[in-house]
Amino acid sequence: MTAPILRQLAYLHAKTDAWTRAGAVIGVVPTMGALHQGHLSLVEAAKADCDRVIVTIFVNPKQFNNPEDLAKYPRTEADDAVKLEPYGVDAIYVPEPDQIYPAGFATNVSVAGLTDVMEGEFRPGHFDGVATVVAKLFLQTRANRAYFGEKDYQQLMVVRRMARDLDIPTEVIGCPTVREASGLAMSSRNLRLSPEGLEVAAHLNAAMRSVAEALGRGEAFDDVAKHACAELLETGFSEIEYLDLRSAASLKPLGRASEPARLFAAALVEGIRLIDNIEVPAA
Ligand code: AMP
Repeated sequence: MTAPILRQLAYLHAKTDAWTRAGAVIGVVPTMGALHQGHLSLVEAAKADCDRVIVTIFVNPKQFNNPEDLAKYPRTEADDAVKLEPYGVDAIYVPEPDQIYPAGFATNVSVAGLTDVMEGEFRPGHFDGVATVVAKLFLQTRANRAYFGEKDYQQLMVVRRMARDLDIPTEVIGCPTVREASGLAMSSRNLRLSPEGLEVAAHLNAAMRSVAEALGRGEAFDDVAKHACAELLETGFSEIEYLDLRSAASLKPLGRASEPARLFAAALVEGIRLIDNIEVPAA
């Protein structure tokens, strides 16, 4: 079934008003397009839980702190619609920019605390852009449930906090990271890597898994992290922005996996910035 592509909020509301009147549970999967199996796993989860599913595709300029990254972000709308066909979603919302940011738009949604570290530190303004657009998409779609990937674990936490704080009645649901056979977390940005770059990229998750194993044996994080970063640089990464062990609940830094923890990383290969995170079992 081909889902209608809606570009205007009024058309989206015509659908969601009718669905809400009929008592349907509405699920939304917010994306920036260039859909891959990671996005499609969220669509599958939404389809299993909800009566109506909306996929949104919007490359949100407000969340890009690097103009080149925005300009080069893959845009593949026609392919995306084809990929969604087997899932039978009810609408694909691809808002015109003025449907999200009309002339005179002056509001910013900013979540404190959780955004001070990692992506917030290395991408100034990024989470304000995310929180603002996601707040708008939740309200515009009137979704009861929204599906986000653990691939962007910090984003998932920020979005959940934002919805709770603003009393937006959309339940935020996290779904596991989908990976290539190599362990590389699927990402639209992987499309920009050469075959050699993809091989290098796969080392990131492998290195993270060895760090997690060492932590499981009771080793101290600082020692294993130093070693892992040196190895990644040798493998072909040009920069490791961070490799952090943090509480899964609060994101506070940890020296050991003394409570439910996650290992987070951001690293650059061929000028492409990759992020990943994995669960670390308590030692
Ligand atoms: P994006 O299009 O990159 O903004 O991602 C849209 C949604 O898909 C976000 O909730 C991401 O966390 C999620 N996502 C992206 N990559 C993956 C992946 N490999 N596995 C699971 N979810 C993902």
